[in-house]
Amino acid sequence: MNIVLLGGPGSGKGTVSNLLEKTQNIAHIATGDMFREEIKNETELGKKAQEFMNKGMLVPDEITINMLKGKINQYKNANGVVFDGFPRNRNQAEALEKMLEEMGQKVDVALYLDMPDEDIIYRTVKRRICSNKDCGEIYNLEFKKPKQEGICDICGSKLIQRKDDNEETITNRLKVYHEQSKDLIKYYEEKKLIYRVELHANIDITEEMTKEWLANYNSNR
Ligand code: ADP
Ligand code: ZN
Repeated sequence: MNIVLLGGPGSGKGTVSNLLEKTQNIAHIATGDMFREEIKNETELGKKAQEFMNKGMLVPDEITINMLKGKINQYKNANGVVFDGFPRNRNQAEALEKMLEEMGQKVDVALYLDMPDEDIIYRTVKRRICSNKDCGEIYNLEFKKPKQEGICDICGSKLIQRKDDNEETITNRLKVYHEQSKDLIKYYEEKKLIYRVELHANIDITEEMTKEWLANYNSNR
């Protein structure tokens, strides 16, 4: 099952992805994580992407699509992929469709995490992420506190805050999101692939909703 996750920055895409990855044995492709990895490794691609990311702008489609094209093949035999943060616009959605088609696959469902902007801003500034890439657990200082301050409950690694998780950048990410998402949602609505989930700031509900959605989805298949 290939799942596209739609939803604003900090709407819970990462949490839902982690959950699907663990419980459904589905691979997780997050273009934002890919860019952050390139930045950490100080690659040319990373340098280009960073300029845009720091401003809360989208990295140009050409760069993003090419990066994904170079990596998607390794997931050919996966049990399915959850796409987190890609596509972000219609152009990317069409590119994804082509890539999957070449692998004899398709998007099975577009899970739309619909969360009010106030909740998003509130949640994102309080987000902390496990620095261990293989773990990647997501915390929230308000809703999902780690047992020990600054340390991951699961693997004991240090928790970090993303550089773009500050109010100014988030406000711009939200603006960009609203400009692009209407068209993207329409794209998947026309294909009858949209499944909308209404969420509020509490992270526990995200997990509950995902489990409920999965049970529902599987029993209706
Ligand atoms: P969030 O959804 O919380 O904003 P992401 O990790 O998905 O976080 O993205 C962080 C940044 O990486 C975005 O603001 C953007 O600059 C860049 N980025 C991620 N995915 C894409 C994409 N599909 N197209 C263009 N830019 C992207
Ligand atoms: Zn961890």
